Amino acid sequence: MSHGLWGGIIFRKGSPYWLAFAFGVLPDALAFGPLVVLRMTAGELVMGRPGLNTIPPWVYTVYNWTHSLVIAAVAIIILWQINRKPAIAAGAWVLHILMDIPVHTQDYFPTSFLYPLSPFTFNGISSIKLWAVNWLLLILAYIFFHFRKSSLR
Ligand SMILES: [Zn+2]
Repeated sequence: MSHGLWGGIIFRKGSPYWLAFAFGVLPDALAFGPLVVLRMTAGELVMGRPGLNTIPPWVYTVYNWTHSLVIAAVAIIILWQINRKPAIAAGAWVLHILMDIPVHTQDYFPTSFLYPLSPFTFNGISSIKLWAVNWLLLILAYIFFHFRKSSLR
């Protein structure tokens, strides 16, 4: 959710807010969304992080594709050739990947941001404090932009 909110607030120029929001959540929505739907329909959805041994291999494949700066760059370059405004909104996809790199550990979905060129991943730091700071900054950013927008009227 926070990826969508950051993407929406930073990359909304020239495009509807929802489009930048959608690009912000796209990497996780494509990787985990189908699994959540499958588990919901099977009545097997559990709250919290599922165990790695319960996650099907295709989720890791989709995750690697959607969390690759290489693939995002190629897609955005193609989109840029077609229509520049949504290509700017797609910057939220890149932001998502850049935000994931330092906060994903090697133990749980490390961000293979150079996939398929390299399997390199960074062993980030995952903590509740970082999560809290992220949401605090997000709330402050939305308050700031709300009042800035109000003062421009
Ligand atoms: Zn992600």
